[in-house]
This record gives sequence, structure tokens and C-alpha cells, in this order.
Amino acid sequence: MSDPALRRGWCPSAFAPMESGDGFVLRVRAPRGRLALATFAALSALGADGLEVTRRGNLQLRGFARADVPGAQDALAALGLVDGAARRETPCDIWVSPYAGDDPSARGDALAVHDALAAAFSASAIPAPPSKYAVAIDDGGVATPLAPGVDVTFRVDGDRVTATSSGSSTPFAAGATADAPAMLARALREVARKPVVDGPEAWRPPLGVHRVGARAYVGFQPPFGAVSSEGALRLADAAGRFGVAEFRFSPSRRIVAPASAEAGAAAFARAVDALGFVLRESDPLARAEACVGAPHCGRATTRTRDDARALVAALGDATPALHVSGCAKGCASPSRRAFTLAGAAGRYDLVLDGTPGDAPTARGLALDGALRAIRDVAMRRAGEDARTSSYEGPAHVD
Ligand code: SF4
Repeated sequence: MSDPALRRGWCPSAFAPMESGDGFVLRVRAPRGRLALATFAALSALGADGLEVTRRGNLQLRGFARADVPGAQDALAALGLVDGAARRETPCDIWVSPYAGDDPSARGDALAVHDALAAAFSASAIPAPPSKYAVAIDDGGVATPLAPGVDVTFRVDGDRVTATSSGSSTPFAAGATADAPAMLARALREVARKPVVDGPEAWRPPLGVHRVGARAYVGFQPPFGAVSSEGALRLADAAGRFGVAEFRFSPSRRIVAPASAEAGAAAFARAVDALGFVLRESDPLARAEACVGAPHCGRATTRTRDDARALVAALGDATPALHVSGCAKGCASPSRRAFTLAGAAGRYDLVLDGTPGDAPTARGLALDGALRAIRDVAMRRAGEDARTSSYEGPAHVD
């Protein structure tokens, strides 16, 4: 599979944009996974239609003409998101808890480890990792930034940092915060990567107003990760009015907004709700994933996000875990879902309990046919569950 659009394990970045159906795609990593409101709003204004929060917690901009890419890269540098002079960016995901720095239950300073690694990458003191390399820093607090594809986990406990590679429970190195870059360099040299085919679901922050220690936060999610430029401006405006100074991103599409006071958090949550973001676990949109699809991706023949919205609207509270993918690549999620629709030639193939690349149980469904099939299977499964739960086992005979 040589076509980059269908190759797993390759993602665009600021200096390696990917060409798609609607132009070039650029992706950036927010330093520490956080963006000040003004940076968030300015970033969203760069793309042709806002920005996307990826499932790895990065920010993606679409729709650049080839001639506009250098200007966009300059703008990213001016926002402090990439090193424009060296044409360099942090070359892998470094995930920290969105509560790091505020969480009283944390046993160490994850942000300090993050900053040591980012500085080492910036100084080229660590070799560039392979594509999709990911580092998680676990401070032992309320959130462990686990996600599919973590290659190295640093555990912080006081001044001590241990490093463990994926697939192992035994640390391969230990030291102080300042030693973390050398530990990561050693992992890159010596530790073989374990391919993650279908890893665990990413840890996701709770939706809605919640509290960690003394601070109130609002967790929310743009439907399918997409935020329009206008939506981003309104969101940043509401945040500013209600005492939110920044947005924090986790290895999921969820955003955490720390508020300066509980009343501000509640008011901001109401504004977020009114703007159409997902704010409750019970929102059926929280169970639906969809890639950008047609007309944006050249591989897509179906309007995945429109179709996902239509399915969610029709299924309502009965919406199951659903993934609508424009093709078998499954950019929106590598994880299994109860129902996956994979686009092919303007229709959908239905995969049950799998991923878009798995063998379908039905092919060539129009959207209404896909809806019927999902309803039928969901109803059959509900009936089976009811029979199983009412079955009391064989009569016991003494
Ligand atoms: S999964 Fe969606 S976004 Fe990814 S290549 Fe296929 S159609 Fe495009």
C-alpha cells in the first residue's frame, strides 16, 4: 500500500503537509497540549474551514493551496507553535494529563518532564522518532494519558522518573527529570516498537463541569472533532467572558477548559452547549466518529459527517458506538466499534464489531439501507441480551 492516503502510520505535520481532496492538510501539536484562547482562535482562522481536533489531541488545518503552505507555516511560527527558522516542530506526541500542574493527587511534575523532552527535541539532542511515535507522561494523578499507540510511558514520582516501553511492565530506565531525554534517546536506539493494531480506547476527560482539586473544569468535544472558524471565535469569546484562559487537549478529541471559578465554569458550559459542542456523555454524538469524508478527502465517495449526523438524528438515544468512515483506512479511529460503515463507491459496507478495514457483513448500502441494517442488528442484539439476562440457568436439583 504505497499511497500515503491509504497508508497507516503516516500523518501530516506542519512541515510535511499532506495533499488531500480539498488542498494541503497541516497538523500541529499544541505545546504541553494547551493553547491560549487567542492562539486557538488565530489558528482556526488559518484553515479554509476552521480546525479539527484529532484523536491524538493535535490540531489539523485543511484546504491550503500549494502556494499558501509557506505562508501558513510562517503563521504557525508566529504563533509559537513551530520553529520557523529551523523549520522544525516537536516530532512526536508527548501526552500529559490536561490537569497536570493543578492536580493535587499528582505525585510529580509531568510538565517538567514534557518540557525537558521538548527542549531536547528542539536542540536536536534526541534523534527524530519514527512516524506516530508517542510518549505518555503519567504523574499518578487523576488522569493517565493512555492512548492507542503509546511507545514509551514516563512515570513521575517526586524527583524520580521511570521509563517503560509499550508491551512491558518493567521500566527499562530510571533517573531524574533531566535524564528523561537520554532515556527516550535510549528507547529510540534500543527498544523495538510494538505495533498497535487495535489498542485500548484513549483515556478521555469527563464531559461537562467537573472538579479536580480546587479547580473547576469544563470538558467538551466538537462533534467529530471539527470546529468552524466562526465556532472557534465564539468559543474563545465565551471562554474569555467566563474566566477560561486556555484550552487543553488530551489524546482524544475532547477539550478541557480550566475555569477560574465554579460559576464561570457553569456559565461557560451553558455557552458551549448553545454553540453545539458535545457536553454530555448521554449525547448520541459522543458515541459517533466520522472522518472528514467527501468532498474534502480525495479518497472519499460519501459525505461521512453529514451521513453520521443523519444516522445519529434518526437513531437518537439508541445510537450505538458508530464509526462512519469514508474508506477502509479508518482515519477517525483505529478502534473497533459495534457498527462501522466504510464508504465504497458512494455507498457503505457495514462492519460489525470491527474496524473499517475488516470484512463487512453487508456491502453497497445506501444511507437508508445502512440505517435499517443498524436498527435490525441493534434490535436483534437487544433481544438476545434480554433473553440472556432473563435466563436463570439450569434448575438446581439436589
Ligand atoms: S478514512 Fe476518510 S479521511 Fe481517511 S483516507 Fe479514507 S475517506 Fe479519507
